[in-house]
Amino acid sequence: MNVSPEILPRLIQAVADTIEKNAEEVTQLDQAIGDGDHVVNLQRGIHALQAQSAEIAQTDWVGALQKIGMTLMSTVGGASGSLYGTLFVAMSKSLRDKPVDRQRFADAFAQGVESVKLRGRADAGEKTMLDVLIPAAQSLQKSAAASEGLKESLAEIVRTAEAGVEATRNMLATKGRASFLGERTLGHLDAGAKTAQLMISAIAEALAS
Ligand code: ADP
Ligand code: MG
Ligand code: MG
Repeated sequence: MNVSPEILPRLIQAVADTIEKNAEEVTQLDQAIGDGDHVVNLQRGIHALQAQSAEIAQTDWVGALQKIGMTLMSTVGGASGSLYGTLFVAMSKSLRDKPVDRQRFADAFAQGVESVKLRGRADAGEKTMLDVLIPAAQSLQKSAAASEGLKESLAEIVRTAEAGVEATRNMLATKGRASFLGERTLGHLDAGAKTAQLMISAIAEALAS
């Protein structure tokens, strides 16, 4: 990607806006099969990122992603805090000493998602954020390899994320708090999958505009 981290304040704002706009819906999802704090957790992290926006914009991708990851890890809390922290720190590591282009960025995201899997001891099909993150990483890889146009590949990742969150509805939760409810999780979307989809879509829309 020949985009600099100067774009990050705009992307952070887009993420803040979509979480704010959908706060009630997501809170209800986490209340149904979790403890209802997912939005508050994420917003703590987003506000911390907003406070550091100017600094983040002035570093390189390795430094910016590392800073985002460390900030999320120390502010978000809950299961999602350490998982998102891990995602960004692993992306930063993956980009070290490499020029950042689209393929490398797709590789870094895939590496980040692999690290989330390890950290959460979870995989696809367990009704978590990974049911959005894993297909999103595959979508990025596919469009980078095919050298698809930017608009086309952003539209594709948006569709993929939407399908991913919808698929969690009929999954049995086997990780996180929802796993305590067993079959009672059937019929509900996973809150963390929903926010992953909202954030990916908001970022894609901001990049396309
Ligand atoms: P907590 O569950 O600790 O209250 P949050 O509400 O912030 O934390 O986040 C819950 C979300 O985290 C879930 O909806 C799910 O998507 C995700 N999650 C929980 N455990 C795992 C795990 N082991 N691997 C991946 N994602 C997980
Ligand atoms: Mg929760
Ligand atoms: Mg909690």
